Amino acid sequence: MTARILVVDDIPANVKLLEVRLLAEYFEVLTAYNGPDAIAACEAGKVDVVLLDIMMPGMDGFEVCRRLKANPATAHIPVVMVTALDHVTDRVRGLEVGADDFLTKPVNDLQLVTRVKSLVRLKVLTDELRLRASTTHSIGLDELLSRSELLQETIPKVLLIDEQTSSAAHICALLDGAAEVQVAADPQSGLFNAAEGSYECVIVSTGFSDFDPLRLCSQLRSLDRTRSLPIVLLVRKEEDDRIIRGLELGINDYLVRPLDREELIARLRTQVRRKRYNDELRQSVSQTIEMAVTDGLTGLHNRRYLDSHLPRLFDRAVARHRPLSLMITDLDRFKRINDTFGHDGGDEVLREFARRVKKSVRGIDLACRFGGEEFVVVMPDTDGALAEMVAERIRAEVAQTPFAISGAGKSVSVTVSVGVSSLLAKGDTVAGLMKRADLALYDAKTRGRNRVVARAA
Ligand code: GH3
Ligand code: MG
Ligand code: MG
Repeated sequence: MTARILVVDDIPANVKLLEVRLLAEYFEVLTAYNGPDAIAACEAGKVDVVLLDIMMPGMDGFEVCRRLKANPATAHIPVVMVTALDHVTDRVRGLEVGADDFLTKPVNDLQLVTRVKSLVRLKVLTDELRLRASTTHSIGLDELLSRSELLQETIPKVLLIDEQTSSAAHICALLDGAAEVQVAADPQSGLFNAAEGSYECVIVSTGFSDFDPLRLCSQLRSLDRTRSLPIVLLVRKEEDDRIIRGLELGINDYLVRPLDREELIARLRTQVRRKRYNDELRQSVSQTIEMAVTDGLTGLHNRRYLDSHLPRLFDRAVARHRPLSLMITDLDRFKRINDTFGHDGGDEVLREFARRVKKSVRGIDLACRFGGEEFVVVMPDTDGALAEMVAERIRAEVAQTPFAISGAGKSVSVTVSVGVSSLLAKGDTVAGLMKRADLALYDAKTRGRNRVVARAA
């Protein structure tokens, strides 16, 4: 994971120290020695994460952070405040100005690297969402984005797995108002709750009397239902090895006791945000895919989907020596329906026609709106004779029952012409198959409409 980290500190030796450590992890490092330079670098779009010193002459770190978070162009860049250990009030102020995380001086290597990596991952997700929002206005992603922004501010539901009652009570008190915490004292019920509940983060406390907390983390990672649930491990000071093994197992973050309220809240917030962004992204991807292949009017697949899927069905049929047939339908004198009942009336007929087609074919058949009032149905494992029967069933079904036009309070008789083609034993192509169905449809039209014509070759 390469990312550009901006190190801001007025003392060159401090900058150097962090720079060397980050370079060793193959991050790219930018440096700034005062607030205005730091802001300029962020505005230039060069920065993925900012490590920000607080005490600087001129503009201090709080002011830099406040300005970054107030500017829409830089608000999404994660900011880590580097604070002195004994200044708890710094952290409170840091949170107030929108800091995403804290590191204490002297900076611990493991903490530095894990925090920065965690925030870089978050940044990658927000960048992806921002990119989609800027390239795709049409499909409601703006709305999705603003929804995710709202979501960020709601209080997360958190599961705390901690055997020790006093510790659990302490953590609940720390998180009061910042998270809705439920406690599981025993690791097995914790695992069960995590899988069954709708939590956004799990906090696992080490110190079970006879259970390895890392086993619990590994179980959480291996269950489908909890795989994408962030895990934060709470450890004691002397548990560095456990942290490293935990990170290898896929825990997302850790905190060392004694716990600092602001730090706990900041870490939790980062994890919850990341999960929410992830969920939004996944959802928007599936929505986008769904919309890209679906016809908005009828809910059938669209032509784009047919173009990509028909070759696969075709190749599979050829490879397995299985029959494959296809029909193209075209509503008869459809212009008249539009002329009589208006475009909305025409649309209603198209929707109803799609519904009848769908009802008359099998689940494995591929029904698409090819365009206008033309539809295509691809029928795997179906020979020409059978396909003709299916086509005839659709034709009869359309002709028998008039179509309701709700706006006009009337119904209209509709007929359809259908061309059918089937896969040839040798040397056939997708284009050939389509072409033959199209020619058959043309025959059906010229021979008087409301009929099915099949063309073998
Ligand atoms: P025939 O196929 O029997 O030769 O006659 P037709 O009147 O159906 O012929 P044509 O293919 O020329 O006309 C199709 C009409 O379908 C033209 C167009 O205005 C209308 N149409 C295409 N797409 C839509 C749509 O989405 N909604 C509505 N209401 N009408 C559409
Ligand atoms: Mg037509
Ligand atoms: Mg027509």
